[in-house]
Amino acid sequence: MNSTLEFNDSSITVALVGCGGFIGSHLLRAIFERTSWRVFGVDLDSYRIQEHLANPRFEFLSADLADPEVVKRIAQYPVVVNLAAICTPGRYMAESAEVIRSNYDHPRALADACAQSGSWLIHFSTSEIYGKTAANSGALVEDESEIVFGPVAASRWSYATAKLLTERYLAGLDGLHWTVVRPFNFVGPFMDFMPGVDGDGIPRVLANFSTALVRGESLKLVNGGVAKRCFTSVHDAVDFMFCVFASGEKALSQAFNVGNAANEVSIAELAQLMRSVYAAIKGVHENEVSGVEVISGEEYYGKGYDDSLRRMPSVEKAERLVGFKAKIPLKTALEESLTWFAHHYG
Ligand code: UDP
Repeated sequence: MNSTLEFNDSSITVALVGCGGFIGSHLLRAIFERTSWRVFGVDLDSYRIQEHLANPRFEFLSADLADPEVVKRIAQYPVVVNLAAICTPGRYMAESAEVIRSNYDHPRALADACAQSGSWLIHFSTSEIYGKTAANSGALVEDESEIVFGPVAASRWSYATAKLLTERYLAGLDGLHWTVVRPFNFVGPFMDFMPGVDGDGIPRVLANFSTALVRGESLKLVNGGVAKRCFTSVHDAVDFMFCVFASGEKALSQAFNVGNAANEVSIAELAQLMRSVYAAIKGVHENEVSGVEVISGEEYYGKGYDDSLRRMPSVEKAERLVGFKAKIPLKTALEESLTWFAHHYG
């Protein structure tokens, strides 16, 4: 494997699996803007990346990792970024088996193929692998934190256990060059969907609250909105990827938290902040936008819902090994996301 990837080397082709998703679409644009590389992109959807389909540096294949021929094709490229996943919390309970296939079986097949071909696999895992963290848990440290999940009956953990098993598989697979990314609540334009418009079910909290604001419905605070998260701009996440691309061997055989610890808020605080940002965008008083309503997790998501009460990353390793530090404040990220959402769906 080359130690670093030169951004102006036009002989490099990167395979981007999930190039049409929220993170993938931002990464794809950044690769075209910041490098001379070509991209082999795989996804079932392409509506977020229409503007790139005619780019001569881009080859797009509408497919997924369930097809072994597609897996073989992807693994021909020297760098493979795998962003493909079912990552909609509303589905973790009702469709656990499919969630596990998507988050374990498919990436495992891709890892096997990359181990054979010698490709560098950069795999997107999740901060949810830290499990059922308590309200007083401290910063989550990549190679130190103990991990506790809820019981099997709490099917919300189907996603996290599949993702964690995949990480263990990559780390144990002989000959594989791998890097794992653990995203901490990335937000930005194109995140998830608006229920009933371009997706069904319950998306993650940013899209849910944005939908409620645009529709004039109340923002639902699950179990009172006491859980805390560190929301991270997708642009910071893209910058992290370029730090990894440039760092080569320093990023090999490592899992990285990618998050912004300074952006920690409770979900109730997030709701208030989004209400005030949305009111400012619309030029109205805060009292004129949707209010909040408390709902229980099981009532909202269905049986088997459980939660992490605090998810705060240690960001030391990413800074030390690849020189990355997230910069974008929460309010800026929410202003960008809500402006985009209101314009796109409004
Ligand atoms: N949540 C909420 N209302 C919503 C959606 C989510 O209160 O409409 C809560 C959810 O229970 C969790 C937090 O917001 O405590 C973040 O949920 P999300 O699904 O965005 O992602 P997670 O970080 O749990 O993977």
